[in-house]
Amino acid sequence: MADTIFAKIIAGTIPCHKVYEDDRVLAFLDISPISKGHTLVIPKEPAETIDQLSDESAAAIGRVLPRLSRAVMKVTGAYAYNILQNNQALAHQAVMHVHFHIIPRYEDGTGLGIGWKSSKLGDEGKDLAAKIAAKL
Ligand code: AMP
Repeated sequence: MADTIFAKIIAGTIPCHKVYEDDRVLAFLDISPISKGHTLVIPKEPAETIDQLSDESAAAIGRVLPRLSRAVMKVTGAYAYNILQNNQALAHQAVMHVHFHIIPRYEDGTGLGIGWKSSKLGDEGKDLAAKIAAKL
């Protein structure tokens, strides 16, 4: 795995505005925030994408995400927010170390802009769901 900027933040060789740390998780402010309070939550485990992450690290992140979200909302006064998690460059991942974005959304429209082009799930849904379930 590449020596990413987040690996260096975990190692303490480059600084960050830390908001939380435990044995498995680190959270800090995004250096180029989309909106005020934009926070990143990362595992200390060096996984590039979430499908490569251990159950233990995933559970550790899941345990603190709600608490971190509450703190960000309380401090910013925002009541709406998105949790974003990108995997691979095609899906807008720039730093190849798993991370979750907490991005407050404000009434003035500041926050994450989402282009959501939906379609309609048809008859293929039954087969598709069964195939995914079989891979778990
Ligand atoms: P993504 O496109 O999901 O890979 O997002 C990577 C995020 O990391 C971007 O929002 C960057 O602004 C952020 N970022 C990159 N370098 C740093 C850094 N040194 N400290 C804090 N955030 C960073």
